[in-house]
Amino acid sequence: MSASKKPLPVVNPWALPFWEGARDEKLVIQKCRDCGKFVFYPRIVCPHCFSQALEWEQVSGRGTVYSYTVVENNAPSYFQDEMPYVVALVRLAEGVQMMSNIVGCDPYSVRCDMPVEVVFEKVNEEFTLPKFRPAEEG
Ligand SMILES: [Zn+2]
Repeated sequence: MSASKKPLPVVNPWALPFWEGARDEKLVIQKCRDCGKFVFYPRIVCPHCFSQALEWEQVSGRGTVYSYTVVENNAPSYFQDEMPYVVALVRLAEGVQMMSNIVGCDPYSVRCDMPVEVVFEKVNEEFTLPKFRPAEEG
C-alpha cells in the first residue's frame, strides 16, 4: 500500500485558512476578537463567549505533548507501513490542543509534557499536514 493513498482531510469552508496556512508552512489558528482566547479546531462561533468575531493568527508552533499513544497494530490500512507511529494531543503554547503525529524521533521516546515544535509534511499540492517533533526547552 502506498502512502499516497491515505485519506485526505475533508475541508470545511470555515477551516480553509488553516489548510492554506499549512500549505505555506505556517500554523494559523483562530483567535476571538471579543474574549481574546485562542480557538481550535476551526469554528464559526467562539466556544468561550459565542462571538462570531473569530480571526486567524499565526502562532508559534511550539507546545508540549499533553497525551499520546504509540500505534503498534491496526486493521489493514494505508497507515500500516508507518507503524509504530505516535498519535498525540499537543497542547500549543497558546493553550489549545491539536491532535497530530510526533515525528522525527523514536516513537517510544515520546513522553507527556515533552516540548515539541511544528513541522510540515507535504502530502500533495493541496495538502500539507502540521506534525510535531521534539524541541529544545525554552
Ligand atoms: Zn470569545
